[in-house]
Amino acid sequence: SLLITLVFFWIVAIGIAYFLSRSSMKPILKSWKRQRQFSANAAHELRTPLTVIQNQMEYLLTQPKARVVDQVEPISTSLDEVRHLQTLTNRLLMLARSDADIIQINRQSTDLKPWLEHALKPYVEIAASQRKSLVQLIKVTGHGNVDSDLIRQLLIILLDNAIKYTPEGGTVTVSAERVRDKLKLEVRDTGTGIPDADKGRVFERFYRSDKSRNSKTGGNGLGLAIAKWIVTQHHGTITVKDNHPKGTVFAVIIPL
Ligand code: ADP
Repeated sequence: SLLITLVFFWIVAIGIAYFLSRSSMKPILKSWKRQRQFSANAAHELRTPLTVIQNQMEYLLTQPKARVVDQVEPISTSLDEVRHLQTLTNRLLMLARSDADIIQINRQSTDLKPWLEHALKPYVEIAASQRKSLVQLIKVTGHGNVDSDLIRQLLIILLDNAIKYTPEGGTVTVSAERVRDKLKLEVRDTGTGIPDADKGRVFERFYRSDKSRNSKTGGNGLGLAIAKWIVTQHHGTITVKDNHPKGTVFAVIIPL
C-alpha cells in the first residue's frame, strides 16, 4: 500500500505541475514572480541609505565630546538619506497601491492655465537655487478633465529629473498646449541625455541607466514607472526623445 500511496502522490504532483504550466496559469505565475522581484529590489534600495545612517550615528556615538560644528556633516549626510528614504517609501507605496487597484483616479474639471502655473511655481526657485533656469510656455487655456493631484505628481517627477540631470547653467523648459481635445505637456532639458539603448527601459521599475547609476544623482528608478502609470490611468501616452543639440524631451499627451 506504500507503493500505491507513492504512485498516487506522484501522479498528483505531475497533475499539479501540468496545471501550473498551462497557459492560463502563466500570467499568475508571472505576476507572483514580478511581485517577488519587486520586494527584493525594494529591500535592496532601502538597505543602502539605512547603512549610511547607521554608520553616521555610530560615528557620532564614538565622539561624545565633539563640537556641534563637527557634528554638522554626519547629521546632514544622515538627513539627506532620510529624505531619500522618504521619497523611496512614498513611491513604493504608490506603486504597491496601484498594483492593488486601491488608487482611484479622480478626474475633475480644472482651469488648466492657473493650475499649471501654481504647480510650477516652486520649481522656478528650486531650479534657480541650483543655478539652472526654468522656462514656462503655458499656452493652454480653458478647462480640462484631469486628476489634478496625479498630473501634478507626474509633472514633479519629470521636473525633478530634468533639473537633476541638467548641469549648472542649463535650462529646463516646460510647455503646455491644447492639441484638439488633448493636453500636450512637454518637459525639455539641456542635460546629460538618455542613451538610445536605455530609452525603451527608463519606464521600468528600478531601471536606471548606467550613466546615472555611476553618478551621485541619488535616484531610485521608480519615478518614471509612476509617471507611466499616471499617464496610462488617463488613457494618455508618454514618450522620450533627444533634445537638440543636447538633453532630453519627455512628452505627455492626455485626452481631456
Ligand atoms: P531616478 O530616480 O533614477 O531618476 P526615474 O524612474 O525617474 O528614476 O528615471 C529612470 C532613469 O532614467 C534615471 O535613472 C536616468 O538614468 C534616466 N532619466 C530620467 N529622466 C532623465 C533626464 N531628464 N535626463 C537624463 N536621464 C534621465
